Amino acid sequence: WQEIGSQSSNETVLVTVRIRPLASTNPHDANAWSTPVDAGYPLPRTIRLADGTRKEWCFDQILPPSTTNHQTYLSSALPHVRSAMQGFNAVCFAYGQTGSGKSHTMAGTTGDPGVVPLAVEEIFRIIREGREREWVLRASYLELYNETLVDLLTPPGPGGTTAGGEIQILNGKKEGEVQINGLTEMIVTTVAEVKKVLSIGDGRRRTGCTDWNERSSRSHSVFRIVIESRSKSTTGEDESNVNARNRGKNQATRISTLSLIDLAGSEKATASKERNAEGRYINQSLLTLKNVISKLAEQSAKKTTGHIPYRDSKLYVLDEIGDAKISVICTINPSQTAIAESQSTLAFAAGIK
Ligand code: ADP
Repeated sequence: WQEIGSQSSNETVLVTVRIRPLASTNPHDANAWSTPVDAGYPLPRTIRLADGTRKEWCFDQILPPSTTNHQTYLSSALPHVRSAMQGFNAVCFAYGQTGSGKSHTMAGTTGDPGVVPLAVEEIFRIIREGREREWVLRASYLELYNETLVDLLTPPGPGGTTAGGEIQILNGKKEGEVQINGLTEMIVTTVAEVKKVLSIGDGRRRTGCTDWNERSSRSHSVFRIVIESRSKSTTGEDESNVNARNRGKNQATRISTLSLIDLAGSEKATASKERNAEGRYINQSLLTLKNVISKLAEQSAKKTTGHIPYRDSKLYVLDEIGDAKISVICTINPSQTAIAESQSTLAFAAGIK
């Protein structure tokens, strides 16, 4: 599994489909998809319905139901974490229907940690081993709900509302650049400190909402670490692979960001009957995301440049996405009852590349 991440790690956008196990609560449920049972290497790339239909989707990698969180991390996020530590911006998204395993993939559980805690462990492992550099890490945690950006590290306003943490986005000087006003960034020096930041943010996300599952399925959460490092050696070093925004600065200094994003349930983007504001906003954000990522992938493949519709949604708090390595983990529930949603997730994933 250590090797798998290198499979496509040189591409700008890595698209992974992760199939969760069938829920054990329904003994009559059946797997709607024809996929390998074992998560062996090399990973499968194609997936089709088990009913004999010919349509087949092809992605960078498909993670069968037996795949663990750790294997998912190794294949879909570790290369991005390492890249972020080398001075490149990196983003990892989880996209899928509510209940398909986004939070399980990103946060995981205490006994089975997901992408976020495993990425944090890796960051501090690299720091411990990379004694030739000095590091400063700043963590932020925000939520996009109804096109309102909430800083989860700011204490809540009166009555426990999140109003106190509302933040503003300003247009940056350049196309695609944004500036976030009032975003709290906490300096973190240990894994335990990052976990504290996450638990403060998670606690605030839950504050003031009556139905947590409903809320989390309707909001996007963005956990971001700004990684700054400076060479201790006075001679500088060859950093020709440092991303564009760092070039021209002191070569021995690098600054990059790692953003880990748990998106709102994708069913909200396809429910055409949903006319309320929330549905529209989620729709807009997810469609913008798809457009932005697919344009970036296209431009990267063709080595061209052009307009990227960053501003169509506030999900584009991520001004660094333009030169980031992106990993999109699309989660699907293999149940017969979820076929339509899974197909729509696969269509989204296929549309990225
Ligand atoms: P989402 O965030 O997409 O709404 P969750 O991650 O909350 O979905 O998953 C819904 C339920 O299914 C949770 O109880 C979770 O523990 C379980 N689950 C999801 N994916 C897996 C998996 N790969 N292995 C085991 N359990 C899973």
